[in-house]
Amino acid sequence: NPATPANFIEIMINEDIKTGKYDKRVHTRFPPEPNGYLHIGHAKSICLNFGLALKYGGKCNLRFDDTNPTKEDVEYVDSIQEDVKWLGFDWEDRKFYASDYFEKIYELTVELIKKGKAYVCDLTAEEIRQYRGTLTEAGKESPYRNRSVEENLDLFERMRTGEFPEGSRVLRAKIDMASPNLNMRDPVIYRIVHGKHHRTGDAWCIYPMYDYAHPISDSIEGITHSICTLEFEDHRPLYDWTLATLGIYQSQQIEFARLNLTNTIMSKRYLRRLVEEGYVSGWDDPRMPTISGLRRRGFTPESIRDFCDRIGVAKSNSLVDVALLEHCIREDLNTKAPRVMGVLKPLKVIIDNYPQDKVEELEAENNPENPEMGSRTMPFSREIYIEQDDFMEDPPKKYFRLSPGKEVRLKHAYIIKCEQVIKDEQSGEIVEVHCSYDPDTKSGSGNANRKVKGVLHWVSAAQAVKAEVRLYDYLLTDNQEQEEEAVKDFVETLNPDSLEVLSNCLIEPSIKTAKMGDRFQFMRNGYFCLDRDSTLQLPVFNRIVSLKDSWAK
Ligand code: ATP
Ligand code: MG
Ligand code: MG
Repeated sequence: NPATPANFIEIMINEDIKTGKYDKRVHTRFPPEPNGYLHIGHAKSICLNFGLALKYGGKCNLRFDDTNPTKEDVEYVDSIQEDVKWLGFDWEDRKFYASDYFEKIYELTVELIKKGKAYVCDLTAEEIRQYRGTLTEAGKESPYRNRSVEENLDLFERMRTGEFPEGSRVLRAKIDMASPNLNMRDPVIYRIVHGKHHRTGDAWCIYPMYDYAHPISDSIEGITHSICTLEFEDHRPLYDWTLATLGIYQSQQIEFARLNLTNTIMSKRYLRRLVEEGYVSGWDDPRMPTISGLRRRGFTPESIRDFCDRIGVAKSNSLVDVALLEHCIREDLNTKAPRVMGVLKPLKVIIDNYPQDKVEELEAENNPENPEMGSRTMPFSREIYIEQDDFMEDPPKKYFRLSPGKEVRLKHAYIIKCEQVIKDEQSGEIVEVHCSYDPDTKSGSGNANRKVKGVLHWVSAAQAVKAEVRLYDYLLTDNQEQEEEAVKDFVETLNPDSLEVLSNCLIEPSIKTAKMGDRFQFMRNGYFCLDRDSTLQLPVFNRIVSLKDSWAK
């Protein structure tokens, strides 16, 4: 009973199940190269591959595609596992490494040479490129193409034992130098690298190329549907050739459109530059589109999975508005995150007719969208803080916040009226505002009906907790990097104002029990998450996202 297909891949899978092509099995894999941290684009691939396994009662492997020793590291292996788990997926006992197959791939390659289907080539990389030809011009055969099987076997073995320097020789598949597909013009399948591999150490000095190792790894693991991004579409004939020529299990490559997001760079090459050149504080800088950056920023795994669901799986590339990702986290946190009051840029307000030493504990609901979250109390006293932006001495018409002679309601408290503005004599800056309050207007009391237009958040001065707040904007000012041939160096398009630090914020005292990673809605200011840079003296909050939703359906 095939599941209702949600996309073209599921249509293919349903067909394969109907025809019994893979004994009705669905076995996918997520194959990251451990050369960097995972990003939101990888999340799409993770949700797709693990999601298909869940939907069809199949399996999904985690496979480290570690065939490139100089760029890979265990730091990345560890972070990748943490990120996949955090997203909510489980590879169970199916964690594999392409490097586990080095011996097997070597053995298969010896067979390939014996079949006359691969040869050792001594051309330089540059010569190989020249001989390959172009789309309009056939390639030229290498002078080494017709070496005997014996000579090839001998040379390939000596490549393995380390006799030859890096770059001096490669092993190439013997396919077709006149193929209209450049990938089929005797592609390089092994190269010499005298470097230390993060797992196999010095055991090998020859490494299989991605296009060759990948189908073999899929085949060894019995992968049925090997899903990759669109750039690999014209590598598929090589994928198929490799498995067919070796005569091993024929996995099937399927390509889908990679995720591109507005105002976001995604490829690891660029993300690494941001880290190494110090434009961000690390791979998990809350501005980074990495899974670890999004986690630290305060995104939930549910919101990222929801996002991946909504963008769907297509066969042609497109650019997704990052506002959709923000919409998803707002939706998720709306019912989950407790509301608290936090004043980012404080302005002191003194309520002159409120008793000097009195402190009232006012009841405040934790989440109007979710009554089950209950309530808390907030202290109220004679001296409070409101936002600087919530006061104007000479307001325009229709300004409903506080201004001289005008009234506002303090959320969960009273209506106050502005009586007097005190300024610094030298600078003319407003230092405090004096108000009166109407004792009959306490929220929740029988007489709270009197309506005023503006409702402000506030904190009580004596009990408020001082905090640092970090506001973020997009790292990129435009979508430059998405284009094939970037005209400018992407560093030129970096947003110089992507981080704003506010270090004199004041939060209501209930925040004292917050733990690292806890998320809140600071009323009217957005969703925030307690950062690991927090100390006992100074909690630090990241703004996950503001409250204003700019996503247009
Ligand atoms: P990058 O170019 O960003 O470094 P990559 O494709 O080289 O990414 P891998 O570690 O090889 O990184 O990717 C692992 C898997 O994630 C691959 O199957 C790849 O197709 C998929 N993937 C990578 N980037 C995206 C993306 N932007 N959208 C969807 N899938 C992606
Ligand atoms: Mg890759
Ligand atoms: Mg890459």
